[in-house]
Order: sequence, then structure tokens, then C-alpha cells
Amino acid sequence: MSILDEKKPHQRFFEALTKIPHGSENEQAISDFLVEFAKTRKRKVIQDAANNVIVYKEASRGYEDHPAVMLQAHIDMVNEKSSDSTHNFETDPLDIYVEDGFVKARGTTLGADDGAGAAYIMAVLDDDTLMHPRINAVFTTGEESTMNGAFQIDPKLLDARRLINLDCIDEGISTTASSGGMDVLFHRKLNWINNNQNCCQLCVSGLYGGHSGGDIHLERGNALKIIARVLHVLQKQNTIMLSSLSGGFKVNAIPHTAEAVFAYDGDFSHLSSIVKETAAAIQKELAYSDRELQIEIRQIEPVKEVVDQNDSEAIVKLLYLHPTGLRHKSEHMDGLTVASENIGVVTLDRMHFEAAVSMRGALDSYVKDMQDESHTLGALLGFECEDANWYPCWEYVENSALRSIMKEVYHDMYGTDLILEAVHGGLECGILKDKLPDLDIVTLGMDMYDVHTPMEKLDLASFDRSYHFLCEFLSKL
Ligand SMILES: [Zn+2]
Repeated sequence: MSILDEKKPHQRFFEALTKIPHGSENEQAISDFLVEFAKTRKRKVIQDAANNVIVYKEASRGYEDHPAVMLQAHIDMVNEKSSDSTHNFETDPLDIYVEDGFVKARGTTLGADDGAGAAYIMAVLDDDTLMHPRINAVFTTGEESTMNGAFQIDPKLLDARRLINLDCIDEGISTTASSGGMDVLFHRKLNWINNNQNCCQLCVSGLYGGHSGGDIHLERGNALKIIARVLHVLQKQNTIMLSSLSGGFKVNAIPHTAEAVFAYDGDFSHLSSIVKETAAAIQKELAYSDRELQIEIRQIEPVKEVVDQNDSEAIVKLLYLHPTGLRHKSEHMDGLTVASENIGVVTLDRMHFEAAVSMRGALDSYVKDMQDESHTLGALLGFECEDANWYPCWEYVENSALRSIMKEVYHDMYGTDLILEAVHGGLECGILKDKLPDLDIVTLGMDMYDVHTPMEKLDLASFDRSYHFLCEFLSKL
């Protein structure tokens, strides 16, 4: 027996998708399922090496000479479960249920992001009564991990130059631009020497952290930046030699804790008073963003070996001088960050030092400039720099014919204006736009909440409404 309304194709197909495990990098089964789905309906279908699936549906009668439209959604999901869940994401179907008008999954993420978008496309492919131009239906893989699927799409397989992206978690909001970005990794081989000095431990904790794209405008403290600032102040009066330095777990998260162990010359009480004074100043600066910030120093047993003074100074200078946080905001769209950086992860072990910095920009030139800045600073201080995980931006365009039609249809249906929004994060739209520069793009979504968490839920009424809106929109193209 089905949980959702079988008579509504988008609900029926969404439920079908929840029965197939489809976490990122585990998309073979769902990809094969979509190929089968297309073949059963006699649609032309292509499955590529990355398990992306492209299905073609011919234009409805009367739409044969209208330009084609692409519908796109990703078919992988984030696998998260509550601590008491016994769910096996490799084998088990999601245990979905409906409560207060929302679909949820017991103990796990629901995969409405982006199963809901994929279900819309399936519903359109299934229904021969709909009116629309020729359709390129694109199901991509790996969006939640590396966006590998979108990177692997062969643009020669796509004849549509209008894209409706269905990976959007809000009804009535359409995205107009997304950031590009990359990571820069700093490396350094370290020279270790025997230590005969006193040692202490410095800890930064109690920061709120957050996402390096979505939360970077909140001006929250970066634990690695703070610890570098304190060490820099100490270095001006003392010789500091590091034995460890670490902070952050993911390059795309603002680090909320950091820790350093180092040998020092001079007097601990003097050192401690400098730390207290610097800490008080930083706490005052962050009084409204990070009320719980703590900066503590304590003496510990001396360590046997430390990184020599030259390497220790270079590491502290790198983190002290490297920009992090908000770099630029838009003067065109209120509240939009257009360039930012995040010193995300630092590790220092016996063999070497590594720092990972993520950078994002609404224009590729912002990213190139920050990358150049990083490389220049790295070279000055004797670090090797490596670039990783580049993705292109989807640049804002003033005039979009597709957006104009969408706005009109939305206004006609609901009597209110479609809300337009640019995001400071990477989307597959940017990758597709990079492959097809003349692509005109809008995004269309339905209300879902707490995505990427076991509380994820999809608003069923919104899911129904946005599907009708999509059908109406298609009929106007
Ligand atoms: Zn998504």
C-alpha cells in the first residue's frame, strides 16, 4: 500500500524513488531504474559513464516549432540518520510517512533534495496530455559530493538552450545566479628540532562556525584566524616554536575550534597576560556574533621536538595574513555576498603542514583574484600551493527571456510576484552554463525543510502546487 497519493504522478514517482537507496556515489540502481522507466515509455534515453541519465520527450502537438527546454534534477541524496537509527543506506528503502501535511522519513534524511525534482521530471515524461516543447530531461549524479555528474555531462547531447533546474527548496523563489569557487591547499615540509624550552597549549573554542557559503556574511569568528592572531602577537615578543596546530574539519565549514601547542622562551605569566589582553579585544569585536568565544592558555609538560623558528613563523604569518570571511557584497542585490574566503582546515603533523582555504565568487574574476593572492602570499612565505575542486559560477544576467515568462506565469497563477534570489554557493547550473554559454536558466522548487538532516520534510501541498505551476509554465514555453 502506498503512503502518498497514487493518483498524483509526482507523488507516486517520489515514493518510488524513496524505495531505491541512492546516496551520493551509490546511484547505479536509481540510474538504471530511470533508464527502465524511459524505455517502458518508449522515450529515447542515454545513460553515461557517470550514471547521468538523459531522456528525450518530443514536443506536444502545436509545440513542434518551439525551442526545446531542459528539465534537470540530481538523483543522489545526502545520507544522514539519527543516532538511534538502524537504517542501512546501502540496502534499505526509506521508511516514509505523512504527518501534519509533511512527508518525512523515520530516522533518516528524506531525499526530497532532490528526489522531489526528479519526481517532477518523471511525471512530465509520463504524461502524454501535457503541453510543452521538446524536452531534454537531465538526471545528474554526485551533486551532494563533487557535482561530478554535471561535470561529466556531454553538452553535445543537449539541444535545449533553456533550463528549468528543479533543485530548489523554496516554492515561489527562483535563483538567478550562483557562485563559482575552488580550494587552495598550502603545503610545507617541516624542519623539526629538539626542544628544551617550556611549553604551553593555546585553545580557541565556543565559536558558532557555520557554512562557508551560506553563513559567511554573518561575520562569525574563524578559530584558525583567531589562533593565528594570538600567536602572531606572542611572536612579536617571544620566540614561539610549534609542536602542533590544528582546527576545522571541512574546508566548507567555518572552523569553530582550534588548538596549538608550542615551546616558548621567557616568562609564562607575561605570555599569559598578552593572551588575556588580546583575547579581551577579540571577544569585544565578536560580542554580537560569537558571544561564547573562549581563548585559553595553559602550561603543559615540555614536548621533545618542535618545528624550528623559521617554519613556525612562516605558518603563523600565513594564517595571520591570509584573508578569511566576507570579501565583497553586492551593491545590486541586498544582502548578497559576492566574494568570500574561508580558512577551513589546518593540520600540522610530524611530516608536514597543510592548510585548506575555500574561496567563492559571483564572478570567476573574484575567484581568480583570490587564488592569485593566495599563491602570491604562499610563494612569499615559502609554501607550495595546490588548486583543487574548481567549479564555475553562474553569472547573473539582467535579461532572461525564460525568467520573464516564469514571472508572468507565476503572477497570473498566484497574484503575487515571484521572488528572485542569487546564492553564494555552487550549483550545477554554473557547470551547465559553462558547457552551454547561451543557456537561459531558472530554478523552480517546492517547500522543504531541514534538508541534509534526519528531520528533512517535504510540504505536500507545496509539492502539489509547484507541480501544477511547472505544467502551466511548460505550456507557455
Ligand atoms: Zn539538492
